[in-house]
Amino acid sequence: MPSALTSLRRRAKALHRNLRGARMAAHALASTEHPLLAHIIPIRRCNLSCTYCNEFDDFSKPVPTEEMFQRIDKLGALGTAVVTISGGEPLLHPDLDDVIRRIRSNGMIAGLITNGYFLVAERIKQISIDNVNPDEVSKKSLKVLDKKLQLLAEHAEFHVNINSVVGGGISNPQDALTIGKRAVELGFSSTIGIIHDGSGQVQPLNDEERRIYDEMKSWEKRSFTRINAFQDNIAQGLPNDWRCRAGARYLYICEDGLVHYCSQQRGYPGVPLATYTRDDMRREYLTEKDCAPHCTVSCVHQVSVFDGWRAPQHPAPPTPAATSARELVQIK
Ligand code: SF4
Ligand code: SF4
Repeated sequence: MPSALTSLRRRAKALHRNLRGARMAAHALASTEHPLLAHIIPIRRCNLSCTYCNEFDDFSKPVPTEEMFQRIDKLGALGTAVVTISGGEPLLHPDLDDVIRRIRSNGMIAGLITNGYFLVAERIKQISIDNVNPDEVSKKSLKVLDKKLQLLAEHAEFHVNINSVVGGGISNPQDALTIGKRAVELGFSSTIGIIHDGSGQVQPLNDEERRIYDEMKSWEKRSFTRINAFQDNIAQGLPNDWRCRAGARYLYICEDGLVHYCSQQRGYPGVPLATYTRDDMRREYLTEKDCAPHCTVSCVHQVSVFDGWRAPQHPAPPTPAATSARELVQIK
């Protein structure tokens, strides 16, 4: 159980966060000229190696802190609302706390996606972050994960969301249910995601996965706030009709400082963040992504909702430089 002081601080921070969230939503609706969410990678290396994951290696060095600062300042200058630090495993970066501070000093909300392996009581108390998403990972035993969740329940003053995943050939889909139940018990918010396999492909859920997905969905009102129609379609292998605003409202900044559509579409636009302009964002805002119908990248769906009713998109112009890069990986 958290101490009374931790609970009080957590409530005060939740109030502050809700106010910032409301301001962010109002600003998002008022203007399309700024990114709502950026994922930034401070290190590609991960201490684990989940079977479905195509976002890690086991050798990369951390991005130099000064370079991280420059990238974060640029995101601030573009008017980004939320910056989520992802990886690899971001807790392997030696100056993660400075990176978080830099995000906040730019007036942006700071989030962290971690496998939680390095979260011990002292570290949880040290991290001055707004949101943490412990990644549900297939390489970690439920026992270890449960211990980490207890530590977070006890010490975290920040918002914790537990994301469970099904699909992608995970051998024990039942684990998602166990983790989801535990998250609810401990008072965390919780989401369920359907994931692609290691090659970026997504398959309709099998019977057991579907049963687990449906059970979690039945908890939606209580805790699983982000399940929505798009995931229902993915679960059945059906396409979604939506406008992906990646490259404009959502940016994925890799360890080399390049802007990509998302983790699953690296390589386009694939240009340095340092030279990324509002004109680039305006172009991508209006560019149709032909991988959209079967996309599983839920955070981009969520930020694109703000503009679902706005500006129809059109295919990218076939310029010579862009012709090959336009052939996006098809997520089926
Ligand atoms: S899913 Fe997360 S924990 Fe697992 S290998 Fe990928 S980056 Fe590491
Ligand atoms: S549709 Fe999905 S996979 Fe394609 S660019 Fe957008 S977020 Fe990435």
